[in-house]
Amino acid sequence: MKTVDLRSDTITKPSPEMRAAMAAAEVGDDVFSEDPTVNSLQERIKTLTGKEAALFVSSGTQANQTAINAHTQPGDEVICEYNSHIFNYEAGAPAMLSGVQLHPLQGQAGVLDLDQVVQSIRSADHHFPRTRLICLENTHNRWGGAIYPLEQIAEIRKIADRFGLKMHLDGARLWNASVATGISIAEYSRYFDSVSLCFSKGLGAPVGSVVAGSREFIDRVHYYRKAYGGGMRQAGILAAAALYAIDRNVARLKEDHFRTKILAENISALPDFSINPALVQTNIAIFEVMSRTKSAPDYAEELSREGIKMIAFSAKKLRAVTHLDIDDSDIDFVIEKLNKLYRS
Ligand SMILES: *Cc1c(COP(=O)(O)O)cnc(C)c1O
Repeated sequence: MKTVDLRSDTITKPSPEMRAAMAAAEVGDDVFSEDPTVNSLQERIKTLTGKEAALFVSSGTQANQTAINAHTQPGDEVICEYNSHIFNYEAGAPAMLSGVQLHPLQGQAGVLDLDQVVQSIRSADHHFPRTRLICLENTHNRWGGAIYPLEQIAEIRKIADRFGLKMHLDGARLWNASVATGISIAEYSRYFDSVSLCFSKGLGAPVGSVVAGSREFIDRVHYYRKAYGGGMRQAGILAAAALYAIDRNVARLKEDHFRTKILAENISALPDFSINPALVQTNIAIFEVMSRTKSAPDYAEELSREGIKMIAFSAKKLRAVTHLDIDDSDIDFVIEKLNKLYRS
């Protein structure tokens, strides 16, 4: 049976051409910083982000958490958004590994209100934790791939400067934001002390993320990467996939965005579901189920029996994500099935 897997953009499998690039990679021991392919990926990321240094790491979680660790001291407080990946999906690592406390703020489409940010910054009183870092997420996963407006980022940077705070960008899907807006990775990165980027989502590499920042900061990230068990040896095989992905799979993300929009438009026409297609900006569509009797997991199971895989994001919400391994015929298949099942 044909199946179309829209659960996540992490499910892509490396293409034969990507595997060939991996097989041909020159390698060395990256713990000694002697893997030429890893070094060339890190150089490439320095140029792309406009930062002094970059470090290849094993996952987006490792990228964010080593960065948080390198920016903070135990007991510090980190401002983030309530629905952010760092707060929800990283296994409590800020508390476990950095000994910091998160201060989540409820954003709108993932975007923090400026007054709210200012009010959440602690004053110098020994009762309070020390506010040290602000983390933003672009695009925002749980807010349906929403893009952070650059002007808002610039305003938050001004606040951070005023209070002497650092800023980290969880840019797991910054490629999507950049392709959708035409704003370069470097322009987004300019406002942050550190940036993480992921290769194993829309870009289709099997493994890997990267952290970029100042030389002195990346030196500390390197130390924490080792401590977390993230020192990899002949990692050039993986870096080759990332380099291949940067060359071939970035510009095509706009196809994912287009297909997600088409999907959202069709879903919005069905009485069972509610979504505003105008708010779908990139490759993620989150839509609500309207039924009083059927939950999102019920729909996910029903769809899965028909060969369509989506994630129930909550009791009321389903998430569909397009990616490299989804083409127009897959979207046609999904729309046809949805219409057959739910068109009244
Ligand atoms: C996927 C994701 C990450 C990293 O996840 P890993 O599974 O650890 O690679 C980080 N931030 C966001 C917003 C993500 O969607």
